[in-house]
Amino acid sequence: MQQTNNRTVLISGASIAGPALAFWLRRYGFTPTIVEKSSTLRAGGQAIDVLGTATEVVRRMGLLERVHELSTGKRGTSYVDAAGKVRASISSEVFNGVGANGDTEIQRGDLARVLYEATRDDVEYLFGDTIAEMTQDADGVRVCFEHGAPRTFDLVIGADGVHSHTRALAFGPESDFARHMGYYIAIYTIPNFLGLDHWELDYNTPGTIAGAYSARENTEAKAIFAWASEPIEHDYRDVAQRQRILADVYTGQGWEVPRLLSHLEAAPDFYFDAMTQIRMDGWHAGRVALVGDAGYCASPLSGQGADLSLVGAYFLAGELAAAAGDHTIAFPAYERRMRPMVDACQKFAESTGGWYAPGSKAMIRFRDLNVRLLPYLPWRGVIGGAPQKVARTVPMVDYAA
Ligand SMILES: Cc1cc2nc3c(=O)[nH]c(=O)nc-3n(C[C@H](O)[C@H](O)[C@H](O)COP(=O)(O)OP(=O)(O)OC[C@H]3O[C@@H](n4cnc5c(N)ncnc54)[C@H](O)[C@@H]3O)c2cc1C
Repeated sequence: MQQTNNRTVLISGASIAGPALAFWLRRYGFTPTIVEKSSTLRAGGQAIDVLGTATEVVRRMGLLERVHELSTGKRGTSYVDAAGKVRASISSEVFNGVGANGDTEIQRGDLARVLYEATRDDVEYLFGDTIAEMTQDADGVRVCFEHGAPRTFDLVIGADGVHSHTRALAFGPESDFARHMGYYIAIYTIPNFLGLDHWELDYNTPGTIAGAYSARENTEAKAIFAWASEPIEHDYRDVAQRQRILADVYTGQGWEVPRLLSHLEAAPDFYFDAMTQIRMDGWHAGRVALVGDAGYCASPLSGQGADLSLVGAYFLAGELAAAAGDHTIAFPAYERRMRPMVDACQKFAESTGGWYAPGSKAMIRFRDLNVRLLPYLPWRGVIGGAPQKVARTVPMVDYAA
């Protein structure tokens, strides 16, 4: 490949999109640097599916075997009532078909670690820092860090998630692009006191779901909560306040909810956020572009956040390589490639909330009935395969290394 310009790329964010982008940029001869606000790689989060085109991206990275080794191996989910009686069960194969076509489910933190380990030897990581200011001109982007000395990069890419600071600096405030999806989510690690064996238990009241599933070969579990709510005014840096908000919603509920909540304060990796989509007309402004949740978060309701990040990173790096580093060609080409998948994932997310957290007792009973019937429906493959279909919206593209 003939490299003409734009060799140095600063990437903000070391979760899924950032390291995946750095991996491909290195492959094509660029020099990426990743700045991550957290002092270490962040653990925690939900189990996520790697599906469709993203599976092919991971295979081409040579990481699919490792991802399969770390797969959760979850076999299914049961919906229980307040007394813990199972009302409906579904095996993972029917529910979302994970396992077919090399698709897999992996803990978010494990995937982030796999990507980090695949890049740390030849990518510069700056942990515990963040971009404070940046100014761009025809020659590059001058970046002032909160802690480190100022530096100039040819390009800057925001891979810093749904609340992207890079996006705020280059495109404007979050409120211009964020769309509240009507739900909140919280998740944290707990002891596997329910004795779950590669299984998830979920309990619904109208508009809420509380559940637990086993992780790391049943040696621990994740408590997971999602509930319908208007946006809640609070300080997002105040973990204790967020934990109180969660406890207030769930206090008084049945099943094992009190025991799940009893582990809340000790949780090592408490994650809490509004389910939000980021909707933007374009993902570049001069020498700055966005990848992953920063540009097109589809919300946890889509189940496709990691897939969008992996595929977006692959296309962004590939288009930069194909354009010999010319961002004026590469950024619009990347946007054209990604747009159909982003639109499909964001649309898909609009239809799933009622399944997770039905709004009334009648709807919960109706959902349970559907779950019980699903294995017997001839069109179960169509329903269960919907996430894979969305994840295959954009075909794989070959870029010369
Ligand atoms: C700890 C954690 C837990 C999560 N849990 C869930 C979950 O349970 N369910 C779910 O659907 N999604 C969860 N997500 C989001 C999920 O990872 C993304 O939807 C998806 O994988 C896309 O990844 P991303 O790399 O684009 O963004 P993210 O995974 O959100 O990563 C963004 C990264 O940027 C870093 N960052 C943020 N601001 C700055 C800054 N100013 N400067 C430098 N770095 C910055 C963050 O620390 C993070 O490492 C979680 C994310 C994190 C970081």
